[in-house]
Amino acid sequence: MAGVSYPYAYQAPVSQKLFDRAAVVTPGGVNSPVRAFRAVGGTPRFMVSGTGPYLTDADGRQYVDLVCSWGPMILGHAHPEVVAAVQEAVARGTSFGTPGEGEVALAEEIVARVEPVEQVRLVSSGTEATMSAIRLARGFTGRAKVVKFAGCYHGHVDALLAAAGSGVATFGLPDTPGVTGAQAGDTIVLPYNDLEAVRAAFRAHPGEIACVITEASPGNMGVVPPKPGFNAGLKAACEENGALFISDEVMTGFRTSRAGWYGVDGVRPDLMTFGKVMGGGFPAAAFGGRADVMGHLAPAGPVYQAGTLSGNPVATAAGLAQLRLLDDAAYDVVNAVSEEISGLVTAALTKEGVAHRLQKASNMFSVFFTEREVTNYEEAKTQEAFRFNAFFHSMLAQGVYLPPSAFESWFVSTTHDSAAIERVAAALPAAARAAAEATG
Ligand SMILES: *Cc1c(COP(=O)(O)O)cnc(C)c1O
Repeated sequence: MAGVSYPYAYQAPVSQKLFDRAAVVTPGGVNSPVRAFRAVGGTPRFMVSGTGPYLTDADGRQYVDLVCSWGPMILGHAHPEVVAAVQEAVARGTSFGTPGEGEVALAEEIVARVEPVEQVRLVSSGTEATMSAIRLARGFTGRAKVVKFAGCYHGHVDALLAAAGSGVATFGLPDTPGVTGAQAGDTIVLPYNDLEAVRAAFRAHPGEIACVITEASPGNMGVVPPKPGFNAGLKAACEENGALFISDEVMTGFRTSRAGWYGVDGVRPDLMTFGKVMGGGFPAAAFGGRADVMGHLAPAGPVYQAGTLSGNPVATAAGLAQLRLLDDAAYDVVNAVSEEISGLVTAALTKEGVAHRLQKASNMFSVFFTEREVTNYEEAKTQEAFRFNAFFHSMLAQGVYLPPSAFESWFVSTTHDSAAIERVAAALPAAARAAAEATG
């Protein structure tokens, strides 16, 4: 935000020093772009520890964390039982490059929780999961084209970084240098929540579409839930046309319910992808689904997919410990925390007369600074993001850590107790005022 000054944004001298050091040895000073605070301006906080709902930065300031590592930390930071499982696993050795029982137990847990998943393959990131699922869908169907939706993020898979493109059956143009036309040329990008566009794409490309991939309930353009019947309509269109329906649950899986978004809407995908919560804060992810489709993966079948650290014993121990703690009672707590905090946010903004929409998908939520409901990416982009930036910095200055972008979901945990919620409530009036007074 060149030209905009946030006096409090720079009161983080130790973080600033670390960021300066980082910028010398790492592009932009970060290992994942949104962390750099470019959208909101100011110095990214370098965190040194986390406990329950709190993070502590390098300057010794404590924050109520409403990002939760972008979703994974649904039990809060350093949950004692997850930490114990990790310590026990680490002490037995960190990687063997052989099969191990932990992987079997984690796969069994996923299969038991998510009914459409008959078989699952473990990987190390959500990006790998979606990349592999797309490859498998292409290998299984013998078709090349992939349908995705603008504003849906599926990791930094070359073919899926295409997010632009307008109208029906438009070939995606690469969104980033380094993704060639050839890599993105089989990607068809459509507006989210538009079933007619999907049907038209199938009519325009008969027998060519391998799969439709969608976020089960998008959280990467802010929270934009599917309209009633949208996912079911996608599934039906795929079935009629011999394509696979891939539901990307990397964000929603084991977060929005015991069985993720599938547990909310019950639409049965052919393939699903998981990450974030299932790793318990470690790099563990997965894709899975119909056994006849998964059976096409090597070594059972011809579609190659592999990973040196896939099913890593420490990561699987963390993921398994976290999932085993996530029973219905835990989701009740997360849902109640989400209700309470989102209610406080909307009350504070309403009191200051700030036009906004608080959008929810189960316990995920985000605020759009606009009057109208947001149903797709084009609409999301019309919000007054400058109001979010002022709101963000006021919250940060008061010790509440929000995602540093107006286009991201907020996440809460089982550990956001009344003391943490009270700190959020205390920060909101000034932040709402800052949003009201912000100018674009
Ligand atoms: C985070 C995310 C990914 C990518 O996962 P990484 O582990 O960051 O590679 C893919 N899909 C969705 C829906 C996500 O939210």
